[in-house]
Amino acid sequence: MSGIRITQAIDYNQTLIDVITFNPSVNRSPLTCPDQNCSAHLVYVKNYIRRSYGKTQHIPAFFRLEKGYLHDEFCQYGTSGLEIIHAGDSSHDIRRALARGNNIFRLHILDADDITQIRKKAVAMQANPPSDTTDRIYVRKGRKDPYVKNMLSLREIYDYGKANPHQKNTIKIVTGTSTVTWSDFFYETSQLDQLLTYLQMVKTAQVAVIMKVSVVRMPVAKFGNRQFIEGLPKKRNGKSDLYPTIQLGNVTPNLFPLGRNVMVLGKFTVPSLSKMIMHPILESEVRTIVFSEEQILEL
Ligand SMILES: [Zn+2]
Repeated sequence: MSGIRITQAIDYNQTLIDVITFNPSVNRSPLTCPDQNCSAHLVYVKNYIRRSYGKTQHIPAFFRLEKGYLHDEFCQYGTSGLEIIHAGDSSHDIRRALARGNNIFRLHILDADDITQIRKKAVAMQANPPSDTTDRIYVRKGRKDPYVKNMLSLREIYDYGKANPHQKNTIKIVTGTSTVTWSDFFYETSQLDQLLTYLQMVKTAQVAVIMKVSVVRMPVAKFGNRQFIEGLPKKRNGKSDLYPTIQLGNVTPNLFPLGRNVMVLGKFTVPSLSKMIMHPILESEVRTIVFSEEQILEL
């Protein structure tokens, strides 16, 4: 595979499409290169993020050359010798990495901030499409930490830590906010007060909370008509009950079936008293916003 990111393609119906409006069920394959000198096949690459220590790159969706094809030698998108290699994202890779003793995982699941960033970048890229001299992507081959691109892969890591508790502190997860051990990343209901203490120190942390859905609230004017989910609280001796609460962005509450356990990935905070949906004096809360169904997994 070689080539560059392209923001337009011609679909099966000879319609020129922009990557922003691409819809695989309407713009059927084969997709071909928009350069009139060229008939190379293209494939759609969904938006994603690439994360390394302390730095996150947001890559908007684009088209790239289909494997086995080359651009015509006069095509404006033709390049040679540049590799585009995408990290695998299957659970199989996670299991294999854990079995090999690889214990650093980079979290590449999009959350609310990432989606906002990607939208901004997509608009900018559309206004100013990359030319072949200014915007290529190439990733070196070789050993890299495994990427965690979806909640199923994240669950593999969760399950592995549960099954191998002595290894919990050797497994490291590179998140959007820091690099943490398994124990500082996954929180069940019984561990919510550890999360509260952690959040009081760091203010915001991207973590995974495993909770039982106990209340799906109807939107009310008092909370700006936003919709919220309450998880089962952690009961604390002599202290207020501590609830995980989820504000819904553009997602359906159906992702949170009542009485079921879900894993929620998000940047959690402790809401200020005026933002709390629980009783500000009698109860306590940790909160995140869910903007994408990719942040949720029913267990
Ligand atoms: Zn071409």
